[in-house]
Amino acid sequence: MKGTVTILGCGSAKPTKTTSPSSQLVNLHDKYFLVDCGEGTLLTMQRLGVHTSRLYNIFISHLHGDHCFGLIGLLTTLGMLKRTQPMHIYAHKDLEKLLTPLLEYHANDRQYEIIFHAINPRKNEVIYEDNNVTVETIPLKHSVPTCGFLFKESQRVQKEDGSFERSVRKAYAYCSDTMYSEKILPIIEGVGTLYHESTFLESMGARSKEVQHSTAAQAATIAQKANAGKLILGHYSARVEDHNLFLQEAQPIFDNCVLAEENLTFEI
Ligand SMILES: [Zn+2]
Ligand SMILES: [Zn+2]
Repeated sequence: MKGTVTILGCGSAKPTKTTSPSSQLVNLHDKYFLVDCGEGTLLTMQRLGVHTSRLYNIFISHLHGDHCFGLIGLLTTLGMLKRTQPMHIYAHKDLEKLLTPLLEYHANDRQYEIIFHAINPRKNEVIYEDNNVTVETIPLKHSVPTCGFLFKESQRVQKEDGSFERSVRKAYAYCSDTMYSEKILPIIEGVGTLYHESTFLESMGARSKEVQHSTAAQAATIAQKANAGKLILGHYSARVEDHNLFLQEAQPIFDNCVLAEENLTFEI
């Protein structure tokens, strides 16, 4: 069964005319998973007609504002919409500390429960599991504790003798924000679709190391070394207006490469 990822935001910290900060909606086995929640996430979901009543799980890679400032708006609005189902949030432990006073002030009368799951971004471990989907953390290298997320899909398959076995597929890996790090290769090896940040171009040189981000060429190198099926680039610096430059830099290294653009949906 194929899944999809819809890009809700693919810029970096500074919003531009064409990009909002990071957010994606993964749809796997007919279940929604929100990955990061930059400012404007709810607005984009509403424009796309996403039913938030189907959303139960939110994964936050790290606590830089461009990955979590949309949460308070989303969670408050869900209260106004009279949501009753619980919402699970998987993030660094500090998120609960930061959000709790805001939720008490703005959404204290909400009728639904918010359950925080503290994750250890330095460890590769399973943080979510149901019958068909598993989510693992991918430790990344950034200026604050950060992890990506690997979505695995498992299915019951009938063998020739009539018995059943479970087949597991690495469907999607989300890696943002991060410097180039080969430590992630064993975790994402053979993944169907890899989203890897490409904030900068090689010509922007030292800046990527300084702020602990990657270039498009580095993202492509990771995709090639991990034997990924497809690479999606994103988290573009506001200083690069023409996103095709990222593609031109990545494609000679890894051919099956596409640009994240807002409102686009990719199969995973
Ligand atoms: Zn970021
Ligand atoms: Zn960051």
